Amino acid sequence: MSKLVLGVVTVLVAVYMQQAGRAKVPRIEHAIPWATSGVWLKAETHVHTKFSDGTFTVDEVAGHAAANGCDVIAITDHTDRRLGAATPEYHAAITAARAKFPKLVILTGVEWNVPPARGEDHAVVLFPPSSDSAQITGEFKKLFDDYDREPLPPETLSSAFTWLRARGASAAERPIVFLNHPSRKARDVDAVTSRMAELWAAGKGVFAGTEGAPGHQKAKPLGAYGGVLRPADRWDPSIASPAGAWDVRLAAGDRVWGALATADFHNEGMGDFWPCEFSSTWVHAPERSVTGVLRALSAGSFAGVHGGIAGRVQLEVEVPGLSRPVLAGETLVAPAGGQATFRVRADVPATDWQGRPNRLDEVELIGIDGNGARVLARLPWDPAQPLVSHSSELPAGRFAVRARGRRVVEDGDDLLFYSNPVFVNIPGQ
Ligand SMILES: [Zn+2]
Ligand SMILES: [Zn+2]
Repeated sequence: MSKLVLGVVTVLVAVYMQQAGRAKVPRIEHAIPWATSGVWLKAETHVHTKFSDGTFTVDEVAGHAAANGCDVIAITDHTDRRLGAATPEYHAAITAARAKFPKLVILTGVEWNVPPARGEDHAVVLFPPSSDSAQITGEFKKLFDDYDREPLPPETLSSAFTWLRARGASAAERPIVFLNHPSRKARDVDAVTSRMAELWAAGKGVFAGTEGAPGHQKAKPLGAYGGVLRPADRWDPSIASPAGAWDVRLAAGDRVWGALATADFHNEGMGDFWPCEFSSTWVHAPERSVTGVLRALSAGSFAGVHGGIAGRVQLEVEVPGLSRPVLAGETLVAPAGGQATFRVRADVPATDWQGRPNRLDEVELIGIDGNGARVLARLPWDPAQPLVSHSSELPAGRFAVRARGRRVVEDGDDLLFYSNPVFVNIPGQ
């Protein structure tokens, strides 16, 4: 390249960066590289087997999951020290199931008793291929599970996250963590809010979010939530309630995800649905692989669905001047005063999880900023269209928008889906 051309390019780049800094032109931060390619996968990320307190073998669970249409499952047995997760036999069983069900992506995970709660707090840890060995998962179990042993020192939580971060140089090689059933044993809403803040602060780069809809969806009480806080239409209240614990984190700008619906499958006697029978998480991944799924979960590129009311749920925001819409997990930076169109796309199958006629009644957009959260728009779903949309002017400031879809159930809890948020940053003049 000649010096002149190089000089012109340098000036153009400098001008562009200056304009982008003032948001004269819209741009996408935290862009998902596979936004316009990628594959949709139906996933279940929380499953138990005989290696802990489940009834079935890894093979049996994987077989049912495949038959129910799962593309992805994670085996996540408890790391209680006397149980069989994170042992050589555990890894061998997962490896054998991968060979037997080659179309099913099977992630190695564990369910961790998070310190210092002595077994009262659970989180799923999902391991990438570079950490998929009993030597590594076994060490994690030995060092950091805090159930049924002498109390661990107070810094164990932060040591555990430091250890997990050190497993990989890049985000794609790092294990990721989701807090499970966050309100199940919480004494009040504030306890959940502060726990999520603590995990976010300690878990940078590893802590991806929370299980938005707990498992045990056939149990009484629903979700096995026998304490003070109860699910709201089957979802954890920290995720379902506008201005709940999740929205507090989103208002602070934390890229933390709650649109995860799981089975927590142990057996039918515990009030559990099988993987992909009732609850599913639709993951938009760069590829059909363990690494692809982990990258998508880490990026927020997924949505949780109950009752098979919808699939491939995507929240997007379109603004003039961008070549593609901004997706859940991404951040739109744009000038104030412009128009934006918020859309939710979904496949709405003709029949639901029970094979009965299905419909989607409405989609709500929830807006979150430093003043709280509220429903911005309630949009009836037109079955003749693959999406709903809502246009509005972009006010100055930072906010997040997330979506949920609802099928009203006359004689029980409604069936919902939840998306992760799109963040919006409109710098002031
Ligand atoms: Zn269990
Ligand atoms: Zn579990």
